[in-house]
Amino acid sequence: MLKKIEHIGIAVSNLKESNLLFESLLGTPNYKTEVVGSEGVITSFFDVGTHKIELLQATDSNSPIAKFIDKRGEGVHHIAFEVEDIEAELARLKTKGFELIHETPKDGADNKRIAFLHPKTTNGVLVELCQERSNKE
Ligand code: ZN
Repeated sequence: MLKKIEHIGIAVSNLKESNLLFESLLGTPNYKTEVVGSEGVITSFFDVGTHKIELLQATDSNSPIAKFIDKRGEGVHHIAFEVEDIEAELARLKTKGFELIHETPKDGADNKRIAFLHPKTTNGVLVELCQERSNKE
């Protein structure tokens, strides 16, 4: 079961400018900036009630975020759902016919283990599953 929306990921071209924009929009500064080398992104997190906003800027042109912005421009990139057991959820969703981008979880930002589902089996929405790293180890 997907427990709750953990965060919404937004692809941006210029993280510095977008940090200021979202700080102004949300009325709160970002609480964390983190580079995720494996994804070629730098991320910035904002707390909004019980959910988070994750801004993502590509650090190189091969990054999925760079490709997304080339194709579709800036905007909502993914919705992340919190799960308790990411391996079990991936197995469950696979048997339901969802296409997995990651068969096994990888390390993501904000102390999470993450995996993505392909948007072609989720009505065009890129879905991220995430599990707090400390829960499992
Ligand atoms: Zn995310």
